[in-house]
Amino acid sequence: MKRRNPSKENEARLMVLSDSKCCVCGKRGDHIHHVDLDSSNNNLENLALLCWQHHEEATRKSSMSKKLSPRAVLKYRELYYEAVTTKRKKALDISNTYLKSLNSEQLFQTVTDAVLLFELEKIKDEFYGGDWKEQEETLRKLNWFGERRSYRVSYEVLQFLEYVADYTRAGMPSGLAMAVYSRFESFFFVDTKKKKQTIELGELSNQIAFAMVYDSIIHSKNFTITAYGLLILKSLYIDAKHHKIAALTEQVLDSYKEILSLESRHGDYQEEAMEMVKKFKNDLETHGLAFPALPDTILQLMKASA
Ligand SMILES: [Zn+2]
Repeated sequence: MKRRNPSKENEARLMVLSDSKCCVCGKRGDHIHHVDLDSSNNNLENLALLCWQHHEEATRKSSMSKKLSPRAVLKYRELYYEAVTTKRKKALDISNTYLKSLNSEQLFQTVTDAVLLFELEKIKDEFYGGDWKEQEETLRKLNWFGERRSYRVSYEVLQFLEYVADYTRAGMPSGLAMAVYSRFESFFFVDTKKKKQTIELGELSNQIAFAMVYDSIIHSKNFTITAYGLLILKSLYIDAKHHKIAALTEQVLDSYKEILSLESRHGDYQEEAMEMVKKFKNDLETHGLAFPALPDTILQLMKASA
């Protein structure tokens, strides 16, 4: 079995621990920061995920300006990890009812969920140990869950896909990104009687899409992944609008806002990538899940990354 090098593996673990966010402010984490400023020290204890702004503050040389000290980073990180753990525990707590209070149908669903979640843990283990090609195969095993999905199972699968989407920055190939897209299609669903749960599934899906778009523009410059991330956003938007779930349509628009702000931040993002984002955004209100009409230059770039 192929293993990632230790620093890559620790990077992945850092993303999970930090929920892919800056441990100071909770925005998208762009930089893996070495707390002791020694970039060869890739021990997990020495790594903290930071947004570009806080990374700048933590590495700023001048002693005159406000600086984020290593001590402060460690303190923020400790509190942030605690918050992430608490949030996850809460999510796992969904069915803390006594079994004897369930009717037979609920009991059957609970047992089915337990079996699927057990299976999911095996799939995750297999995924983390595989190379890109094997990982794509592994994700395909989730198809078997499809018809048996419940809110609980979908929540766990989407959370797993969120971690997978974080591989975008590590150069995830297009095939794996497409697999993430189709699993999203199977596991995100709208239950009009359970609006709160639908919003939770939508939030996770929005984060999956955001990670794919944002990181493919900044890190991997893979246009196919950008396109599939944008397609997830569109799919979410259409469903949310159709069922009048304003909380979700707003989230999609917020993601667009943050992605489009990349343009003004550094100014060196590929023109084509931002053009593609705008084309998809203008296409949000159109029905149907096809790519919008894209100029030849972009189609060529997508072909090159396919
Ligand atoms: Zn930050």
